[in-house]
Amino acid sequence: MSSRKASATNQGNGLSNGNRERGHLELAELGPLLEEKGDQGPSSSANADDPPCTVTQEEEEEEVRVLTLPLQAHHAMEKMEEFVYKVWEGRWRVIPYDVLPDWLKDNDYLLHGHRPPMPSFRACFKSIFRIHTETGNIWTHLLGFVLFLFLGILTMLRPNMYFMAPLQEKVVFGMFFLGAVLCLSFSWLFHTVYCHSEKVSRTFSKLDYSGIALLIMGSFVPWLYYSFYCSPQPRLIYLSIVCVLGISAIIVAQWDRFATPKHRQTRAGCLLRPNPEGCCLGVQHCGKRVFLGLGLSGVVPTMHFTIAEGFVKATTVGQMGWFFLMAVMYITGAGLYAARIPERFFPGKFDIWFQSHQIFHVLVVAAAFVHFYGVSNLQEFRYGLEGGCTDDSLL
Ligand SMILES: [Zn+2]
Repeated sequence: MSSRKASATNQGNGLSNGNRERGHLELAELGPLLEEKGDQGPSSSANADDPPCTVTQEEEEEEVRVLTLPLQAHHAMEKMEEFVYKVWEGRWRVIPYDVLPDWLKDNDYLLHGHRPPMPSFRACFKSIFRIHTETGNIWTHLLGFVLFLFLGILTMLRPNMYFMAPLQEKVVFGMFFLGAVLCLSFSWLFHTVYCHSEKVSRTFSKLDYSGIALLIMGSFVPWLYYSFYCSPQPRLIYLSIVCVLGISAIIVAQWDRFATPKHRQTRAGCLLRPNPEGCCLGVQHCGKRVFLGLGLSGVVPTMHFTIAEGFVKATTVGQMGWFFLMAVMYITGAGLYAARIPERFFPGKFDIWFQSHQIFHVLVVAAAFVHFYGVSNLQEFRYGLEGGCTDDSLL
């Protein structure tokens, strides 16, 4: 009898080490949620991260000793069920970075205010209206999405008399708006369901990255269309290169290792600051280069245009000032995101608002808007010329 009990204890201990650690982690994750159940006084808030206990420590230890594996599993299932039920009800609380599971750990300078893992889409979407580390990221691109959807519809509904070649020009503008709307909606969706589960997070992360490629591709189309209006051959070549690079970037974004949130720093950071610790290795190295190549593929047509038209014409009629501003905004945003500024200097102070990723999001929307403004000016210039081409101009 006693030997049987001893073997059960051994079994219990044997299974633990790995499993128990996971069990502790789960308890730590569930703690802030389960706490609501026990009607505890304000004194409990000092220890908000500890799992609540209705039994004493000794009793619990005694219980663990006699628990067999199936019983432990049963208890874990019950806890999970309770947790899922509370999440479904929207009764969850933000948790600190330390207790996040690995797949949700992304930026260790954001110390508190994280959503717990919530395997329910309903709960994720309801969390849009709660305050946590992703609230700013969701809303910056949700509002950006509404803005570009509205601008896109306005442009499409504009009377044809304002265009030289209405159908063609609307298709060209449509590509830009499609890229922007898809990019921004993939982004806010990703940030919304990021905490659902590892699999969902990874899937939407791939969409998020594909969206960036779509925005870059879509932005090139109207710019190349109007800037090289009178030289169709280079226009076709540049457009083809952008399409090949854009599609390559989308393919690269589907690779698991590239789109894993864990590698946040390597994703954007590698572009600017290659580091020797495996940052620029294998898939990510290759993937980064494809995205970098896509972004930089604007340099050649820009130089071509500026040399052919002259600096003055390029910056006035050619709107190069606006496109330069746009590039500076994208690069600044990516740089802040990669370096995790400002939260790096004040850990825990930008958990909810003004963290690097939010600034990056705002700069993306602003840059896309500046691009739209520049392209609209090019369109107006073309309309003012009544479609005619002169021999000595690309524009
Ligand atoms: Zn984002």
